[in-house]
Amino acid sequence: MKKNNKINNIIITNPEKIIFKNPEITKIDIVKYYSAVGERMLPLIKNRIISVKRLPDGVGGNKFFKKHLETKNKGIGKIYLENENGQKEDYYYIKTIHGLISEVQMNSFEFHVWGSNVKHLKSPDIMVFDLDPDEKLNINAVREGVKDLKKILDMFNLKSYLKTSGGKGYHVVVPIKKEMNWTDFKQTAKNIAKLMETKWPNKYTSNIRIKNRKNKIFIDWVRNARSATFVAPYSVRLKDKCSVSMPIKWSELDKIKPNEITINEALKRIKRKDPWEDFFK
Ligand code: ATP
Ligand code: MN
Repeated sequence: MKKNNKINNIIITNPEKIIFKNPEITKIDIVKYYSAVGERMLPLIKNRIISVKRLPDGVGGNKFFKKHLETKNKGIGKIYLENENGQKEDYYYIKTIHGLISEVQMNSFEFHVWGSNVKHLKSPDIMVFDLDPDEKLNINAVREGVKDLKKILDMFNLKSYLKTSGGKGYHVVVPIKKEMNWTDFKQTAKNIAKLMETKWPNKYTSNIRIKNRKNKIFIDWVRNARSATFVAPYSVRLKDKCSVSMPIKWSELDKIKPNEITINEALKRIKRKDPWEDFFK
């Protein structure tokens, strides 16, 4: 009997292709995952320029980044922007769940997004801090870093939200009123990272250079620049297991490891109250 492999009205080719081994996760599992989280995920990625990680041949195959569109599907938008050399380059973005699923059908499994949306391209509204520890530090140091950062943000009345990276760390995400240009936005993020460094010089650095990171955590503010990206909330990570970058409650920081939440756990979690419910309010 032929399996029904239409999701959101899109025909899914090679549904049984293995994407992760151990536990085995196939392409159709991932498509179903995105279809289920779509409603939660879409407001956070909609109309934001994306850069995706594709895995066309499944586990062990070639992985590549993609930021240009070749086939325009329903629910996908295309935009031309000038790069530093004054040349026009095309970018693309997702407008609907249909657009999201059509990307996943084309083997885009990991989504990275800009901090502004195409309707307000010059006014970024999502600031992200990524805590990247020196390899020797343990997870508790990272958690402490996240708490210290939250203290600083609270001090400035900046409401922040937490997600796992799906990899080695956590991301602290701050919704910002669309009132800043990219230069001021990036400078603000840098100032916050610098303040962490000044306040706790033995624990944090705002300097991107690895050699400055010995026994410290790099508070990565550099992502808050025009054309930089961060991994989208709810995105699958193409790391060693099918983890996701998952929004969690502040009270869960000490309980949840950065790569702990996989698609199956995420599917359970989205039935609960949204920890980022008031993100755009
Ligand atoms: P970890 O917690 O393991 O450090 P992470 O998400 O913080 O995970 P990386 O996965 O190393 O960090 O990503 C580093 C940077 O590179 C991020 O800003 C991310 O958005 C960017 N990046 C990663 N993949 C892509 C991609 N496909 N396209 C564009 N940028 C990407
Ligand atoms: Mn990181």
